[in-house]
Amino acid sequence: MSELRDLYQEVILDHNRSPRNFGHLDDANRRADGHNPLCGDRLDVTVKVVEGVVTDLRFKGSGCAISKASASLMTEAVKGKTIDEFNELFDYFHRLVTDETLSVDERALGKLAVFSGVRDYPARVKCAILAWHTLKSAVSDSQEVVSTE
Ligand code: ZN
Repeated sequence: MSELRDLYQEVILDHNRSPRNFGHLDDANRRADGHNPLCGDRLDVTVKVVEGVVTDLRFKGSGCAISKASASLMTEAVKGKTIDEFNELFDYFHRLVTDETLSVDERALGKLAVFSGVRDYPARVKCAILAWHTLKSAVSDSQEVVSTE
C-alpha cells in the first residue's frame, strides 16, 4: 500500500503540472460545469459523443491539484469508451475513493488506482469525484451546473 501511496503523490503532481486533454473542445456536442464549493474547485468539461461513444473530451478549470489530476486522468481513461462503460467506471471510481473494503485492482484500473489514496483524506473525496460528476452530467445531456453538495 505504501508503494501505491508514493505513486499517488507522483501521479497527482505529474497530472497537476501537465494536465492531459486540457482546454476546450471546439466540436463538442455536450458540456457541463462542475463546482465543489467545499474546496473552490471549478471545472468545465466539453465532450464529443458519437453514437454512444465518447470520442473526445477536454476539461478546463481552476482548483486544487487533486481535482485537476483527477480530471486529467479521467479524460485519458474515458476517451473511446461507450457511455455505458463510462457509467460502470464512474460507479467503480466512486467506490474506489470511498469504500475501504474495496480491493484495488491495479491491472484493471491503471493509474486511476492511485486515487484509492484519497480514502485517507475524506475531505478530498469531493475534489477527486468532481470531474466524474461533471462528465456524467454532460453525457446525460443535462445543462445544469453540477455541485458536489
Ligand atoms: Zn479540491
